[in-house]
Amino acid sequence: MRIFDPHIHMTSRTTDDYRRMYDAGVRALVEPAFWLGQPRTSPDTFADYFDGLLGWEPYRAAQYGIAHHCAIALNPKEANDPRLRGVLDLLPRYLAKDRVVAVGEVGYDEMTPAEDEVLQAQLALALEHELPVLVHTPHRDKAAGTIRTLDVVKDSGLPPEMILVDHLNEMTAKAVADSGCWSGFSVYPDTKMDVHRMIALLRLYGTDRVLVNSAADWGHSDPLKTRAVGDAMLADGFTEEDVDKVLWANPVAFYGRSGRLELDEVSPAADYAGNTIKRGVAP
Ligand SMILES: [Zn+2]
Repeated sequence: MRIFDPHIHMTSRTTDDYRRMYDAGVRALVEPAFWLGQPRTSPDTFADYFDGLLGWEPYRAAQYGIAHHCAIALNPKEANDPRLRGVLDLLPRYLAKDRVVAVGEVGYDEMTPAEDEVLQAQLALALEHELPVLVHTPHRDKAAGTIRTLDVVKDSGLPPEMILVDHLNEMTAKAVADSGCWSGFSVYPDTKMDVHRMIALLRLYGTDRVLVNSAADWGHSDPLKTRAVGDAMLADGFTEEDVDKVLWANPVAFYGRSGRLELDEVSPAADYAGNTIKRGVAP
């Protein structure tokens, strides 16, 4: 089983996770820029974070045979901090870079006017840079947030096939499927979407334009949930081709719209800027 995790925050994960992900079949992933739990206080720290998503983290992933790409954005939660508005000015420089395969994650957290402004500015940047967009839907008031997201996306001028609306559930899946956007489901260990509910949704809506991710980060999450969904699909009577479509072909088709996916055999570099993941060994 080959797996492309379309939404995972590897900066928060360990080398053990990379090893277990490779063993489970993960060969490629997208790491969207997001909130780090600890509030940031200036745009400069975002520049360092974005540089890490384009430098150190792909180096680290390649040591374990995994192709790392990223999405770059000012996340919905920190869109509310006026000190960080300057991050929008940094984005054009990063959106032009190789391995940046989308604008993301953008969207709503609490649906404030500041979030509206930042979301619309970033949708305009995606249009200008011809990049797909990964849109996060709020964990609270998800149904209303998703409907509003679809309205804003429609007004942006971006075609629906350039949009992935993520963190969906039974309440929001139909509206997104009907919109022509891609549907993303984040499968978590205990809360929100789980493996069995995911299988039921795949039975209901089919496998077209559906992506499954672990959204693993610094919180309670599991980077092997993509594999768990693949196994559960097979156990439920889906074919290997169905599994490959959801876990590989669909994410490749969506992010492939950037023209920047690099899925050839990964060759690990000896070091990154003179540093390595080894301990006590010179590069
Ligand atoms: Zn995320």
